[in-house]
Amino acid sequence: MAAGKSLNRVGGEWTEPSTGRWFEDRDPAAPEEVVGIFPDSGAADADRAVAAARDAFPRWARTPAPKRAEMLYRAGEILKRRKDELAHIMTREMGKVLAETKGDVQEAIDTAFYAAGEGRRLFGETTTSELPDKFCMSVRQPIGVCGIITPWNFPMAIPAWKMFPALLCGNTIVFKPAHDTPASASRFVEVLVEAGIPDGVVNLLHGHGREVGTAIVEHPGVNLISFTGSTETGKKIAQQCGGQLKRASLELGGKNGMIVMDDADLDLAIEGAVWGCFGTTGQRCTATSRLILHEAISAEFTERLVRRARALRLGHGLEPGTDVGPLIHEAAREKVHRYVEIGKSEGAELLCGGRPVDAGKLRGWFYEPTVFGKVLPNMRIAQEEIFGPVVAVLEVKDLDQAIAVLNGTRYGLSSSIYTADVNRAFRAMRDIEAGITYVNGPTIGAEVHLPFGGVKETGNGHREAGPQVYDVFSEWKAIYVDYSGKLQKAQIDSQPS
Ligand code: NAD
Repeated sequence: MAAGKSLNRVGGEWTEPSTGRWFEDRDPAAPEEVVGIFPDSGAADADRAVAAARDAFPRWARTPAPKRAEMLYRAGEILKRRKDELAHIMTREMGKVLAETKGDVQEAIDTAFYAAGEGRRLFGETTTSELPDKFCMSVRQPIGVCGIITPWNFPMAIPAWKMFPALLCGNTIVFKPAHDTPASASRFVEVLVEAGIPDGVVNLLHGHGREVGTAIVEHPGVNLISFTGSTETGKKIAQQCGGQLKRASLELGGKNGMIVMDDADLDLAIEGAVWGCFGTTGQRCTATSRLILHEAISAEFTERLVRRARALRLGHGLEPGTDVGPLIHEAAREKVHRYVEIGKSEGAELLCGGRPVDAGKLRGWFYEPTVFGKVLPNMRIAQEEIFGPVVAVLEVKDLDQAIAVLNGTRYGLSSSIYTADVNRAFRAMRDIEAGITYVNGPTIGAEVHLPFGGVKETGNGHREAGPQVYDVFSEWKAIYVDYSGKLQKAQIDSQPS
């Protein structure tokens, strides 16, 4: 093994890729710096990893759930111990500021402890029978080998959201992290190894989606795909899984809106908007990308937001005082800039930002926090996911119009309303089409014991986190025990007519 190279993990061994190819992981805030070198895996690696996961499955599935839970608890403790180091490497490879990468690791810790608690629950049901001397129950069973495919924006939280419940339910895993954040993924798997997860139960394949990702999705030995990423990739994966009747849980894009009514606490709403729009450089699936403002407060709110956006300090995420890090890579910055040009050509008013930043110490993929005013609901910048520090401000006359505008996209992940009127809040909670609605909070920030996911083209109806995720990673089995000693026929009339 050459120095600086990390490896795949297959069947309990750290292994080189069958392709002989490698790729570099670079710091988006200082792209000349190589964080590490990782395997560019191919289909033969997927074959080996799936075989290892299948081999490990029966033993892991029969390990009592409370024992599996103990290992996850240990993983939580190791993550806690290594939190600072893990956050540091995560900031280096994906750019978000240290406080946020610590939050990312914390989400993995919370998920580990939550899953560990489930080890002594995983409740099924017992119920009555329509026949005498018969016992009925339902139990959860593992599904088999899960293909776990994740994006780069939450390099530890999202793998944890998927893998801890999958493992707790007794499944084995082939994990393909985003190729932009391989170092965080390798560290995460190291933690699982240290926690005692047996060989073959978690297999890690680095590489690109179109090659090793596709090989995992299409592999007949993989029973389930849990994917988080773009809606475009999600649709492709849904078709591939559909062809094999393979379960697919898809968490996809968003175009999240925040409504601010005329009775809102504007100081609070401004704080929420700055965090929701520009936190993680706007690269969260739940980022606020549309501000839907009541006309009575729109001018004041926009002016204050622009002032705050201009004051945000761009920098390396490891530097104290940095508010906003870089975009993930050059192509992401080009995409953001393309959308800024589209916004201008559509007639929206560029109020601040709108340019890439390459000055002084800022050598990476930085982009100015950008606010567009006079945006109309059908403009592309109000409809399409930009995934960067760009927010569209739309003005409305009342709550009905605000909700109609908020609902008027193909996505439905997160949403928010700022109002002091409880009646308006409850109408919004009922009528907004989204998987998540905040009242008097921004669109970002999720707690791991509540369901996470979206409606419309944000997903395919499943939820991560919360008790609901255990339905993704387990199969329900109904069990009937007839202790009458004779043949009893359900639904068949046993009385002579
Ligand atoms: P992406 O779809 O490009 O990639 C996601 C993952 O899929 C990566 O690991 C990639 O290598 C892999 N992949 C790509 N093409 C594949 C293919 N054909 N077959 C199998 N795997 C493939 O997304 P991204 O750019 O990494 O992430 C950003 C997107 O993720 C945004 O749209 C964002 O909204 C979304 N996201 C959604 C959630 C959510 O919970 N809903 C959370 C975070 C991010």
